[in-house]
Amino acid sequence: MIPYGKQSINDEDINSVIEVLKSDFLTQGPIVEKFELAVASYCDAKYAVSVSNATAALHISCLALGLKKDKIAWTSPNTFVATSNSVLYTGANIDFVDIEPDSYNLSIEELKKRLVEAKAVGKLPDVLLPVHFSGQSCKMQEINQLSKEYGFQVIEDASHAIGARYNNKPVGNCEYSDLCVFSFHPVKIITTGEGGVITTNRKDLYELLIRLRSHGITRNPELMTKEPDGDWYYQQLELGYNYRLTELQAALGLSQLKRLDEFVIRRNQIAERYNLLLKDFPVKLPSLTENIYSSYHLYVIKIDSFKCDKSHKEVFSDLRKRGIGVQLHYIPVHTQPYYQSLGFKNRSFPESEAYYSAAISLPVYFELKDSEQDKVVDTLRECLGL
Ligand SMILES: *Cc1c(COP(=O)(O)O)cnc(C)c1O
Repeated sequence: MIPYGKQSINDEDINSVIEVLKSDFLTQGPIVEKFELAVASYCDAKYAVSVSNATAALHISCLALGLKKDKIAWTSPNTFVATSNSVLYTGANIDFVDIEPDSYNLSIEELKKRLVEAKAVGKLPDVLLPVHFSGQSCKMQEINQLSKEYGFQVIEDASHAIGARYNNKPVGNCEYSDLCVFSFHPVKIITTGEGGVITTNRKDLYELLIRLRSHGITRNPELMTKEPDGDWYYQQLELGYNYRLTELQAALGLSQLKRLDEFVIRRNQIAERYNLLLKDFPVKLPSLTENIYSSYHLYVIKIDSFKCDKSHKEVFSDLRKRGIGVQLHYIPVHTQPYYQSLGFKNRSFPESEAYYSAAISLPVYFELKDSEQDKVVDTLRECLGL
């Protein structure tokens, strides 16, 4: 089976983890800090906070921006459930904004429309979570403009997008957002096994996030409500969590970060090669706008039901049967039974639903060989009955 995504681990990655195993610290040591500095520097952000996974990153990001009962956050339905779940963890309400038909990212037109309606009934969102689907940045400049006009804060879900660029600047620089979240799950661009990072330029949020990932505890006397009782003293200021990354994970991340540009260049090569090989197929290929450099976490094609005799479902299951580990990203979140039970029963987001009825994620990862890619293309040709 050729999977849709896969990590790449080399000897240097392995040795960096072994070094940590022989050292004094397995967690809360110097490598975590080194990794955070390296991510911040790569992204051109002032601060980076590492956590145990991107779901945890999204959770404490939502808390840091004040989400709680009676607050409102919006995201797009074309995402992994973790994005909207993280809002619900805080007790806040979630709603969705439909996607654009070309990028499959949150639609700015739709967002504008929804903001006008929400303002009229006094239900404007407090936080927006744009998802950089497949590694392609959302239109952050426009989102930033609207955030100022309507007074909401922004968390970028860049789980797919480390190494991507927007207006020729790195995703994660937070020029147009308050916080930006990356995932280091093995299927993403770089991996720490499990792991995530939040970048920000805001010192207040940085300090709060550092506490929230570690029980709400501080050892900084300046932040305490009174003089420390002694050298042992710490204070818990908020209800935090144990969301820390280990030294082992950070060492792997630091080593992987050195390979990030190489990973993304290769993913772009594979995407360009697919574009070429599939250009006469009756499928819609990914489209990028000019100011975007995608990290190509995913390469998604859409089956054109008007041009193709086979149904989407048939093509998908045929590909799987013939050893191509295709996937579908994503089942629109509002259609999940849990979200239906929250009141999305009578709600429709037509672009997301249309997308879901046609999308297939083809294999794309650093170690995918040209010969394997050829096999994917040949098999797809057969499955489409061409
Ligand atoms: C993978 C992913 C997450 C969750 O990441 P984890 O590190 O697995 O918690 C959140 N949002 C999106 C869009 C993702 O793809």
